[in-house]
Amino acid sequence: MSIISKFIETDVLVIGGAGAAVMSAVRASREGLSVTLVSKGKLGKSGNTIMIGGGFGVDGEGAREVLGLTDANPAYTREKALEKLVYSGFFLGDQRLQKLFVDLGPKATGECLEWAKEAGQPFHYYPASVSWRSSGAVFGRAVARGVKKGHSIAVHEDIFIAELLKKDDRVAGALGIDIYSGDLVQFNARVVILASGGFQPFSLQNSNSDMTGDGIAMGIRAGARVRDMEFLLYIPTILEPWYARGSILPFLLTFSPVLKNTKRTDLDGRELVFPPDEKYKVGPTTTKVNKALMAEFYGRGIYEQFALHGNAFYYDYSAYTAEEIRKGLREFGDSYREFHREGYYNGTDLARLAEDIIKNSKRLKVSFGNEYSMGGIVVEPDFSVPGVPGLFAAGEVTGGTFGAFRSGDGLTEMLVHGYVAGESAAAYAKRTERMLPGDAEQKAAFILSPFTRPRGMSPIEARTRLEKICDEGFDFFRDEERLAGAYRKIIALHQSLQELSVPLADRRYNLEWLNSLIVRNLALLAEIGIYGALNRRESRGTHLRADFPGVNNKEYLFSFVASVPGGLVTGIPQPGSIVYEKRRPEAYHLPLVTENYLSVADFLAEKVLHGA
Ligand SMILES: Cc1cc2nc3c(=O)[nH]c(=O)nc-3n(C[C@H](O)[C@H](O)[C@H](O)COP(=O)(O)OP(=O)(O)OC[C@H]3O[C@@H](n4cnc5c(N)ncnc54)[C@H](O)[C@@H]3O)c2cc1C
Repeated sequence: MSIISKFIETDVLVIGGAGAAVMSAVRASREGLSVTLVSKGKLGKSGNTIMIGGGFGVDGEGAREVLGLTDANPAYTREKALEKLVYSGFFLGDQRLQKLFVDLGPKATGECLEWAKEAGQPFHYYPASVSWRSSGAVFGRAVARGVKKGHSIAVHEDIFIAELLKKDDRVAGALGIDIYSGDLVQFNARVVILASGGFQPFSLQNSNSDMTGDGIAMGIRAGARVRDMEFLLYIPTILEPWYARGSILPFLLTFSPVLKNTKRTDLDGRELVFPPDEKYKVGPTTTKVNKALMAEFYGRGIYEQFALHGNAFYYDYSAYTAEEIRKGLREFGDSYREFHREGYYNGTDLARLAEDIIKNSKRLKVSFGNEYSMGGIVVEPDFSVPGVPGLFAAGEVTGGTFGAFRSGDGLTEMLVHGYVAGESAAAYAKRTERMLPGDAEQKAAFILSPFTRPRGMSPIEARTRLEKICDEGFDFFRDEERLAGAYRKIIALHQSLQELSVPLADRRYNLEWLNSLIVRNLALLAEIGIYGALNRRESRGTHLRADFPGVNNKEYLFSFVASVPGGLVTGIPQPGSIVYEKRRPEAYHLPLVTENYLSVADFLAEKVLHGA
């Protein structure tokens, strides 16, 4: 008798329950195929789509022509938008994907704006930046509405997909765990679209807890290549007080008109200076560049104190009276009133936060937290995964749209990717015979194997160790010694995961068991990311090296592309079996950069911010 309890047949299987997944499912379903969407979280209430702090945008030319927005910034042309993506990706992005992002952005976002309108959700439009402001909850409701715009998409929530299934070389389905019953569920499909988001290996989380890189890791095990895994995007995130930990409020305050006169200091009170030089001034369409600049300017000072205090600094409001701090946070809350409960930003009570800042000598303890992963699965412009027939990928699970730094919108990315991936996966499914996976029982036995070991490391303990390794050695400001230490430790940890044990035999909502799969995924991705960071002896985008501050285009204008040749049926790759290639970008639309720069900030000032 099979150890798999349930079998589901579909033409197109989409893994994920947020923006990239819904757009993929809607587009595939319009091709007259059966489409199944499976998510470990709730539809429209999971993934980073529901975490957004700002909104999303497109270029002015596209907004005028496609969306009829006659007031859209005329200076922000398609050409300028492409230039911004290519340059602020430090030339590592795939220019074909970047062109698609620009060309299809207005159409794909236009469709999503329709979903929002039908769901009665507010999106505020700003013509100068050609962007829409909203909140995660609002966006989630729009996405949930979106699924109704497809033709009978079957939705399965609370199923954690653990492995892709194959017949010979072709992906033919996926195997999951029903989180609440613990049953194994097998999906058989002609084609699978991974839309399961990015990864985040640190202990401080400003992202959704879904961001465990499952899809990227499953893709590698199925034979996919991944790229740019050393590039993670960081923004100021609250460390303390505990109830606001993980909130990106300090980052948003940077752009808010309130409490402008805030200093940043290290934990010993020394000011961390953002140079007032005009050349670092961002414009309405380049505000995101601030993320990279803040990381570099504040990061240097934080790095000097890292051994003592780790990744931590203060937002210092001592220029204000207690009443002004209260008023500032109240006004900040008011500016989000339409999107959040009155007096709150997401779950954070702003009045309470103001009192705690005042009590803490008018300081807020902050850290650089990881918001987005630029790296991911290598895809073609039709979002098929090269070398893995039957597999497509869309959204943050992929790499290549943003290269070394995301200055464009993750939301626009997920919508554009889903827009193309859904259609091309459907075309693939139509020309493909249905095949039953041949490896389901073997994979099921592996998934259940932690229950068979009476003793061994606890998966939750393994995850804590992994986060500590990444906090200490793979954080936002890096050096050779710490990276080399992290690389040694992550390899040792990764190998030790063969011995994970889950003592509680009850499979229902068994978080130790789920973590035995998650930690294996995160360890694979962290190992690849740390390898790239260690061997990239320069700074580029969000990869900042204290020992190599310059952008070295003469020697490092390439992406590390990693794979396990032949894939992995089960288990952990043996040491040395992950293969790394260096891939130089192709100049499909814009010529590549040739000169070196003294720092990331210098590069951005000259190539992206000129004339901002
Ligand atoms: C704090 C924060 C603020 C942000 N603000 C903005 C912003 O203002 N503007 C912007 O453009 N971008 C922003 N981003 C980035 C943006 O949210 C993401 O790039 C985008 O939402 C990714 O969409 P996605 O559909 O690819 O993945 P996600 O939204 O992450 O969705 C992944 C889905 O896959 C499911 N899933 C994952 N693993 C599995 C599995 N093993 N089995 C089954 N299902 C699985 C999840 O449950 C989820 O439903 C922000 C991100 C963060 C963290």
